[in-house]
Amino acid sequence: MDKERSQTNISELGEFGLIERITSQVQIKNKSTIKGIGDDAAILDYGEKMVVVSSDLLTEGVHFNLMYVPLKHLGYKAVVVNLSDICAMNAIPKQIVVNIAISSKFSVEAVDELYSGIHLACEKYGVDLVGGDTTSSLTGMTISITVLGEAFKDEIVYRNGAKPNDLLCVTGDLGGAYMGLQLLERENEVFKVNEYMQPQLEGFHYILERQLKPEARVDIVSAFKKLGIKPTSMIDISDGLSSEIHHLCKNSNVGCNVYEDKIVMDYQTRVMAEELNINPLVAALNGGEDYELLFTVSMNDYDKIKNDPDFTIIGHITEASEGLNLITTGGSSIRLEAQGWNHGK
Ligand code: ADP
Ligand code: MG
Repeated sequence: MDKERSQTNISELGEFGLIERITSQVQIKNKSTIKGIGDDAAILDYGEKMVVVSSDLLTEGVHFNLMYVPLKHLGYKAVVVNLSDICAMNAIPKQIVVNIAISSKFSVEAVDELYSGIHLACEKYGVDLVGGDTTSSLTGMTISITVLGEAFKDEIVYRNGAKPNDLLCVTGDLGGAYMGLQLLERENEVFKVNEYMQPQLEGFHYILERQLKPEARVDIVSAFKKLGIKPTSMIDISDGLSSEIHHLCKNSNVGCNVYEDKIVMDYQTRVMAEELNINPLVAALNGGEDYELLFTVSMNDYDKIKNDPDFTIIGHITEASEGLNLITTGGSSIRLEAQGWNHGK
């Protein structure tokens, strides 16, 4: 052991700092690698269509708590979070590869449950399970899924194409998955104190579903094609809106103005936030796991999206020098902080 050399705590770098450090050594050697690290998925050129690849890893105790996440839901969600990254490239997911590590506390029936969720997601999204690996673990369960998708080269949308004056848009509503998680955690705490207490979940079906059974917006990729829209940039909202806006603006070298009153939240999200004394805006900006899409389109496409209920224009892109600003309901402008999940999400 080299006692002289000091060790750096990973939390000092954060998740993104760590990824940058790991990947700073990478040099692309193959012409077929069109895009490597740094977007929602990698883009590989193998002929007429591009192959779009992404991977995600979920660890018990960090990403999921089996006290309140049914294994079937876990399997479903593990697939969906991967499909979402393919959608974020404006591509269509086609195959998945599933790797699992499981400890002896899991029965065959438990693995069946997990895979029933994986199969259900494959069925719903028309995706084939084409392989994987299975191994034992000393500490609970880990699931890693890799997804492959396809798109024509000129259809692919990266994080780096946003231009000043583009409209900044999102799909769906935000903050629901986070408030669903807060509700599940509250009820789990109650259960730990008294196991005869029934969980109080009535009236919050939507936010529970947002947390336990999210969907990937493959429908939006189709909608873009139908409307004849190609976003100038896109990313999926896995770590919270503000964090994704930061990624998008940093990659595109632009700034933005985002309007607080345009950020869509469901009624249940607001009610639960109030019950738990959380500002719903914080849930929407920093909560994460909504798996909606954040994208920019040219002003010329305004007419195509303005009346479409799938899309909400939440702001516009500016020059980088103007920074990232949140225009509050009261009309004042504040800096948009990037406070997504750090390590572990
Ligand atoms: P997302 O949130 O969209 O899943 P991430 O923030 O996890 O994306 O990853 C950002 C980029 O860094 C992606 O291109 C991903 O492939 C890459 N990446 C993440 N972790 C690693 C790693 N350990 N080694 C190599 N590349 C990585
Ligand atoms: Mg992503």
